[in-house]
Amino acid sequence: MQAQVDVAVIGAGQCGLAVGRQLKMRNSDFVLIDRCARVGDSWRRFMDSLRLVTPAGVSALTGLAFPAPARAFPGKLELADYLENYADAFSLPCELNVEVRRVRTIDGRFTIDLSPTGSDKGGHEEQSLVANSVVVATGFLHELRIPNFAEELDPTINQLTMSDYLAPDQVSGPVLVVGAGNSGVQIAHDLAPAHEVWLSGPNPGHFLFDLSNPTLWNIAHRLFTPRNPVGRRFIAMIQRKEPPVIKISEKRLRQMGVIRLPKVSGTENGYPVLADGHTVRPATLVWSTGFRSDFSWIHLPVFDAVTGLPRHTRGITEIEGLYFMGLPFQYGFTSHFIRGVDRDAANIVEHLAHHRLANAETTLSDRSDHPQ
Ligand SMILES: Cc1cc2nc3c(=O)[nH]c(=O)nc-3n(C[C@H](O)[C@H](O)[C@H](O)COP(=O)(O)OP(=O)(O)OC[C@H]3O[C@@H](n4cnc5c(N)ncnc54)[C@H](O)[C@@H]3O)c2cc1C
Repeated sequence: MQAQVDVAVIGAGQCGLAVGRQLKMRNSDFVLIDRCARVGDSWRRFMDSLRLVTPAGVSALTGLAFPAPARAFPGKLELADYLENYADAFSLPCELNVEVRRVRTIDGRFTIDLSPTGSDKGGHEEQSLVANSVVVATGFLHELRIPNFAEELDPTINQLTMSDYLAPDQVSGPVLVVGAGNSGVQIAHDLAPAHEVWLSGPNPGHFLFDLSNPTLWNIAHRLFTPRNPVGRRFIAMIQRKEPPVIKISEKRLRQMGVIRLPKVSGTENGYPVLADGHTVRPATLVWSTGFRSDFSWIHLPVFDAVTGLPRHTRGITEIEGLYFMGLPFQYGFTSHFIRGVDRDAANIVEHLAHHRLANAETTLSDRSDHPQ
């Protein structure tokens, strides 16, 4: 990899690719860096049966339609392959199998420390890249949140995280799924034909509208933004509580034999104790208790002490040249969905281009004020 670049985009998921396409259209000097072996790998890691909740008609980035009927719900591999094809179709410069270990500023420019990942480390060494601007597109769901008492559980219980879970034949039952949000419900639903399944945690309710209609998503994309009162009210409402479960009804869970249990509150003699005082004895426990962000590798004073998330306005931070993509509600309701990514990317790249122009003009006027 070269030692200097104008714009370094960290992460080649959907957000990084959308930024990459915008930069390409402006003939920028940029690179996309990702620790994965293949573009799309962040989707390939999900459980085998995962299908999108957004239909194909709104699950594509600008310039390349999703190769499926507009109302179909693509599977995880279809989306992963689509993203890989997208990078190829626009010849986006991706450096894969490279992890960013640290970002800091030295003499007003960003220094990015890199190390190779994957099995093919031979010949590659740790190195640094210097950039004028950095776009962090690494998502915000980084580390699983697992309660401390997990360590007290009996070693005979096979503990998995939602990131480790792929398919029912990987585990034996009864299975206790801890956490009943969207991921927990999807895992319980996936396991139920093969195992006895207990689903623990508060029920956030179900959202059962027909989500296969792209027009609905397009309306939500335009309407639910901070630019209008309806959007502001809607975004504030969904930020306040756990989002409802999408696509799987309570009736369906009941029909499949999933047993609802209260929250797990601790352990007793190595077994999970529920909030009502009962103890359960699962063979497998799947933690589906959510994620926290980890931007500790970015050594720049831009993070909120409470949330750990960067302070920003539509992804633009107070540090000149530093941008973020894919943050929760980065702008509108659809920012976290594929549908909203291009709008956010365009805004960031527009800002980046103006900032570059303004700097160039200042440099020119400095030169003419101080003739050599
Ligand atoms: C289970 C699940 C289902 C979802 N379903 C839908 C859906 O149906 N429709 C929809 O529109 N959205 C859906 N989403 C939401 C959203 O589309 C995804 O979260 C999306 O993957 C976020 O894109 P991203 O580019 O921000 O992050 P990611 O796809 O996670 O990409 C980030 C990339 O950064 C790389 N990276 C991270 N750290 C580093 C580092 N230090 N150095 C180098 N590379 C690094 C990673 O390898 C990764 O490739 C879903 C999300 C989840 C979790």
